[in-house]
Amino acid sequence: MLAPPLATIVVVGAGLSGLTSVLALISLIQSSPSHPPTRIHVLEASAAPGGRLKSDCGGADLGAAWSWPTDRRLHSLAKELNVSLLPQPWEGVVSEILPSNQVTKHPAREGEVACGEGGLRFQGGAHSLVEGLVREIESRAAGDPRVNVTMHAGSACTGVAEAEAGTGLEVRASSNATQTDELLAADAVILALPPHAIAAKIQFEPPLPQSLKDSMLSTQTWMFNMGKATVTFDRPFWRDKGFSGTAQGGSVFDITWDNSYSGTYAIAGFLTGGDGGGDSPGSLFEPARTVDERILGDIAKWFGEEGKTGVVTRQTWDASAMYGHEAHPPSGHHNYGATKKLPLRNVFVAGTESEDEHGHMEGAVRAGERAARQAFAATDTGTS
Ligand SMILES: Cc1cc2nc3c(=O)[nH]c(=O)nc-3n(C[C@H](O)[C@H](O)[C@H](O)COP(=O)(O)OP(=O)(O)OC[C@H]3O[C@@H](n4cnc5c(N)ncnc54)[C@H](O)[C@@H]3O)c2cc1C
Repeated sequence: MLAPPLATIVVVGAGLSGLTSVLALISLIQSSPSHPPTRIHVLEASAAPGGRLKSDCGGADLGAAWSWPTDRRLHSLAKELNVSLLPQPWEGVVSEILPSNQVTKHPAREGEVACGEGGLRFQGGAHSLVEGLVREIESRAAGDPRVNVTMHAGSACTGVAEAEAGTGLEVRASSNATQTDELLAADAVILALPPHAIAAKIQFEPPLPQSLKDSMLSTQTWMFNMGKATVTFDRPFWRDKGFSGTAQGGSVFDITWDNSYSGTYAIAGFLTGGDGGGDSPGSLFEPARTVDERILGDIAKWFGEEGKTGVVTRQTWDASAMYGHEAHPPSGHHNYGATKKLPLRNVFVAGTESEDEHGHMEGAVRAGERAARQAFAATDTGTS
C-alpha cells in the first residue's frame, strides 16, 4: 500500500501573524480528514518568537500594547488563548511641560491618552498572546500524527525558489548559530514578515518583477525605529495625587500613560528623538545612563520627586537590523494590503502590512488567518 502523500508548508516569521497562521493551519487540517498529513516548518530569524510584541517588567509592553473594540479577530484569538483584556486607565489630571519649561495641569478628557478612546491592553502584556499561541500550537499538534510542527529559532529565510521540476518550492534558511545554510522542500510558503523585509532580505527565483519589488521596498514597516520605555515603581504614587499618568512635552518622552498591571505599577511612554519620533542611536540616546536620568527627571517634573525612584526599561525597534530598512520609506500606511501573494507558485504573504489594518495587531491576525486558508487550499489535494 502506498503511504499517504505528505504536504510541507514553511512559515517564515514567528511574530503574531506567523504564529496565528500556524494555529489556523492546524485547525483547518484537523477539521479536514481528507487533507494530506502536513509538516509545518517555522523559520524565525531571532532567538525567540514574538516579533514586535515584547512585554517586560511583569507585563508592561515595550512593543504593541493596545487593541480597540473593533479588533474582532484579535479579540477572538485572545479569548481562544484565555488572555483577558483590561481597559487603559485615563481618568485624572494630565500634566504637560510647556516649551517655556512651565508645568501645566488639566483634567483629562476621555480619549486624552496615547491610544485614543476605548484602548484595551492585554493582561500580562501583549506578549501573552505569543506565549498562548506557542502553548496552543504545541498542545494541538502533540499526539496528532497528521500535523507536525518544527520551530527553527535563529534561522533566517534567505531564499525561495521554484523547484526545477516545477512541482514545488525550495526554501533556503541560514542558521545564526552555525552560519550554515539549509534547504527545505515545500509545497507552500507563508511569508509572515513586513513587505520591506521580504523584498530586501529574501532572494526569489524567478526574481520578483521590479515594480512589485519597488512597491514592497517602499512600504513602511509599522512603528519601525520607534523607542518605548517603561518605568516601574513600588506604588502608583501619581494616582495618590490625582494624576492620570498621561503627560506630555518631556525632554525625552513624547507622551506617557499609566502602564500598571496587577501588582506592577508603571508609567510608560513613547520616546522622542531621531526621525519618525523614534530612538536615534548616537544622539539623544547615548550614553544610556544619561537617557535614563532624563526619563526619571521628566517623570519627577510631571508627577513629583518620587518619579526619580523608578526603574527604567527601554526598547528601540531598530528596523535596519530586523527588517533591512536602510532608508526611510514614505510614512503612513502607503501600500498596506497590496500584496497577499507573490508571483511564484504557492507563495503567500502574511504580516500586518499585508492587510489594510493600519499596521495593528488586528491586521497581523487577519493576515495570518487568511494566509493559512490560502496555503491550506494550495496543499489540499484531498487524496485520502
Ligand atoms: C513600539 C510599537 C508599538 C506598537 N503599538 C501597537 C499597538 O498599540 N496596537 C497595535 O495593534 N499594534 C501596535 N504595534 C504594531 C504591532 O506590533 C504589529 O502589528 C504586530 O506585532 C505585527 O506582527 P507581524 O507578525 O505581522 O510582524 P512582526 O512582529 O514584525 O513579526 C515578523 C517576524 O519575522 C521575523 N523575521 C524577519 N525577517 C526574517 C527572515 N528573513 N527569516 C525568518 N524570520 C524573519 C522577525 O524576527 C519577526 O519575529 C506596535 C509596534 C511597535 C514596534
